[in-house]
Amino acid sequence: MSEPKENPLEKIASLCKRRGFIFQSSEIYGGINGFWDYGPLGAELKRNVKELWWQTMVLQRDDVAGLEATIIMHPGIWRASGHVDTFADAMIDCKTCKGRFRADQISEIPCPQKPSKKVSECAGEKTAPRAFNLMFKTCVGPVESEENVAYLRPETAQAIFAQFKNVLETSRQKVPFGIAQIGKAFRNEITPRNYTFRSREFEQMELEFFIRPDEVVEAVSGSVAAPVSKGHPGRPGADWGWQLWHQYWVEERIRFYGNIGLPRATLEEYWQSDQELAHYARATVDLLFKFPFGTQELEGIAARSDFDLSQHQRFSGKTMGVFDDELKAAWEKLPKERQDALWRRYYEHRKKYLARMGVAEEQAARTATDDANGLARGQYIPHVIEPSAGVDRLILALICHAYSEDQAPDEKGKLETRTVLRFHPRVAPIKAAVFPLLKNKPELVARALAVRDLLRPHMNVFYDEAGAIGRRYRRQDEIGTPFCLTIDFETLGEKGEALKDTVTLRDRDTMSQERIKIPELLSFLLSKIH
Ligand code: ATP
Repeated sequence: MSEPKENPLEKIASLCKRRGFIFQSSEIYGGINGFWDYGPLGAELKRNVKELWWQTMVLQRDDVAGLEATIIMHPGIWRASGHVDTFADAMIDCKTCKGRFRADQISEIPCPQKPSKKVSECAGEKTAPRAFNLMFKTCVGPVESEENVAYLRPETAQAIFAQFKNVLETSRQKVPFGIAQIGKAFRNEITPRNYTFRSREFEQMELEFFIRPDEVVEAVSGSVAAPVSKGHPGRPGADWGWQLWHQYWVEERIRFYGNIGLPRATLEEYWQSDQELAHYARATVDLLFKFPFGTQELEGIAARSDFDLSQHQRFSGKTMGVFDDELKAAWEKLPKERQDALWRRYYEHRKKYLARMGVAEEQAARTATDDANGLARGQYIPHVIEPSAGVDRLILALICHAYSEDQAPDEKGKLETRTVLRFHPRVAPIKAAVFPLLKNKPELVARALAVRDLLRPHMNVFYDEAGAIGRRYRRQDEIGTPFCLTIDFETLGEKGEALKDTVTLRDRDTMSQERIKIPELLSFLLSKIH
């Protein structure tokens, strides 16, 4: 197998268009920058990825509940989250070429007038950087006025915080537990680029996993378990603090990627430095993938403290705290010095948060006192760990990783270049293709259709009778179908009893062929795709 040469992204984009994975949005009108459509195969691939995420993050667990919220929400949400004031990129205009660029990317971008040159080399005079808010604005109702302004959500996470209490009260969950959501997000990116990597409309898969603050863990369990030096920390324990939970989710996410065909070796863990961390974040790990255009973020896993719920509590005036009976019971039994020490730590944390948010010192001290007094009544605002992944970036990573070229014999035995998408069978858009050896033999066609119908209720199968078998294999290789099944005269029993009711099962990656009994087909294929 040889590695694809020269400009792999172009080759990949061309394959994606030719075979119906990804199209430019509004292409017949010249396209619209930063928007992409998924064709028949792309739509299947995306559905599989989202389904697997939901299965793993929600359905296979007892401690996560799902949510599906609206894209347009009360604008107060975006004031509380900080997006109205600070969700901005610095933008620079070039007065000569009229190009508009993100200030932090300016040295990487080709000049529109002289693509061979990088912008930083372009002689054109630049404007000073200006802040540009990335949220798309719209108006709710018939009057276009400031009071009616609303935003398309730039992330799915905030709806989870805004609905935290409703989910808590209706799902019979208690902290620690999570709320998960998959959905569209919109960002008016200054320079959408690298194919679908940075789009203006995209999908996210986000989990907000709510945990006890460390002071509460300590009060209930006596101490906070120490973080492990490396790897998965195992089954969650009652004495886990934010560090272990964070580590746990980083490892769970890496495991997820491994299960869908992106092994650990294809990912890089990038721990943000103290300077890079958002002011409320205690730690953030970005999981990076080596795209053809560079090693870039697929997902971020952030320990966000109690910032988000606290902000919504202040802005909405509704309490976001929880009542924890175990804390209440444990607190009463704590010696006075332990109570005081934990009270003080919680108080300092709350006061620091309030001061950062601009609350005057005296007021911050009063509110922090009230918050810390809540511990004795079993009350606190949960902290959160947030694994936040982009569906479209993951699709692009899966396609880039799956893309390969090798040499395979053509009909006459001559070696030719074969393009293969080596998708993991779990994500492959089509799981099995079914071919009658010849299309003009009704018995073969009838038997092939019967095999298709046998499998169809359980997986996406594709029936193809057009062209030579070798060509049909190549078409499936190119779209990543892991298995091809050929119904031939042996199947019909015309060449003796031994191979009657068997089909040829051809493996995409090894191109090896074996006979398999029709009654065993379904369980064999299910074992590969589940
Ligand atoms: P970047 O630094 O690349 O702009 P980010 O750190 O702003 O990304 P987050 O706000 O953490 O991204 O969003 C979480 C995830 O959503 C990202 O890891 C990514 O997979 C996805 N995502 C964010 N912006 C885009 C975009 N413009 N197009 C496609 N996916 C995106």
